Amino acid sequence: MTSRIILDRQLCIGSGMCAATAPEHFVLDADRRSRLLPGAAGPDERVEDAVLLCPMEAIALREEPPEGAPPHAEG
Ligand code: SF4
Repeated sequence: MTSRIILDRQLCIGSGMCAATAPEHFVLDADRRSRLLPGAAGPDERVEDAVLLCPMEAIALREEPPEGAPPHAEG
C-alpha cells in the first residue's frame, strides 16, 4: 500500500501550517490557499504532522494499492 495526500482546498483558510511544516509538499497560492507541489515525493513524517496540525482538517492521507497492483480479490 502507498499513501496519497488528499488536500481539500475548499476547507483551507490559509493558516500556512502545512507549508511551514512540510515545505517540500505544500505551498500557499496567491489567494492564500494551500496547494500540493507537483512532483513532490510521497508523504513523510512532516506531511503526517501537517495532517495533525491543519486547523480545518483539510489534509488527509489515503491508503491506495500501488499502481499496477492486481485488484483485491473478494471472498
Ligand atoms: S494547514 Fe490547513 S488550513 Fe492551513 S494552509 Fe494548510 S491546508 Fe490550509
